Amino acid sequence: MRVLDGVYQIKTPSPGDGSWQTNAYLVEGGDGHILIDTGWDSQEALWALQEGIKGANVKLRDIKKVVVTHIHPDHYGLSAKIKQICGAEVAIHRIDAGLIFSRYKDFDDLLQQMGELLRQNGVPEDELSQLREASLWMNKYVTTDEPEEQLEDGDTISNDSFEFEVLWTPGHSPGHLCLYERERKFIISGDHVLYDTTPHVSVNPHSGDNPLGDYVSSLKKLARLRVNFVLPGHGPVFNALGLRIDQILQHHENRKRDILKSLSNGLKTAYGVARDIRWTAAKGGIAFQDLAIWDRRMAVTETLAHLKHLMEEDRVANVDMQGGSLYIAKD
Ligand SMILES: [Zn+2]
Ligand SMILES: [Zn+2]
Repeated sequence: MRVLDGVYQIKTPSPGDGSWQTNAYLVEGGDGHILIDTGWDSQEALWALQEGIKGANVKLRDIKKVVVTHIHPDHYGLSAKIKQICGAEVAIHRIDAGLIFSRYKDFDDLLQQMGELLRQNGVPEDELSQLREASLWMNKYVTTDEPEEQLEDGDTISNDSFEFEVLWTPGHSPGHLCLYERERKFIISGDHVLYDTTPHVSVNPHSGDNPLGDYVSSLKKLARLRVNFVLPGHGPVFNALGLRIDQILQHHENRKRDILKSLSNGLKTAYGVARDIRWTAAKGGIAFQDLAIWDRRMAVTETLAHLKHLMEEDRVANVDMQGGSLYIAKD
């Protein structure tokens, strides 16, 4: 589907769940076409991508570059296969490039670190292995390869028709990037800003210490840009970027308020706090114990991200005990 002059949005399906789709973007150019994000490595996604590219009257072999906004399987997954098919160069931010193999190939260390992190944050032994391994199934929908190009904040990517500025926007992943077309005033935002979903921000072995702090700074960086259209990694194209950023910031403030409330009556682990919170944006939310395994892990690691942010703001104190990290509200 053409979303702007020379820019096409192609929806690719997720494994098992057709309702959750990833948006890839095809950007036409006199000096070769650019594909931004690819979808999961599945036949269905490759098929959808091929049909979308055909619909734009472009041939797969004319794609000269694939830019990946971040390392997650729904964006990075198919990139190596696209390269095999058409020889396109794959470009990704340097930090996410450095995490590809330890995440998807030799992931024993990562699993062990994830297990330690969950245990340290209060996940009980009988839930631990389930939560630790909750994302392993995704690996079969990713083909890894060394990217040809490692991008940095401020780099430019052009194809004679469009010129994109690489904006490093860490938070959702440590090497997340957005692509800004300054002249035409649109931004390809990956998972950094979505229309109706709040991007997941969690503490994990790859995230750095304060990913929510990084995320909030990255959001504020975008708020200063002149943008007429946001082309996100999921959901519809939208405008009013500033308004959406305000809503997302407000969501995190509300969550921090819930967390402070949970901590007001004494020391708790991140797991203990996550159990007190109503999850998802559904009316009234869902209780922690009713969440699916993967969502439960996200709830714990996301709670931890908020706790770290609250510590940075000096509103929460932390003490590491043997067998668990405990948090308490300061005010
Ligand atoms: Zn993502
Ligand atoms: Zn995504």
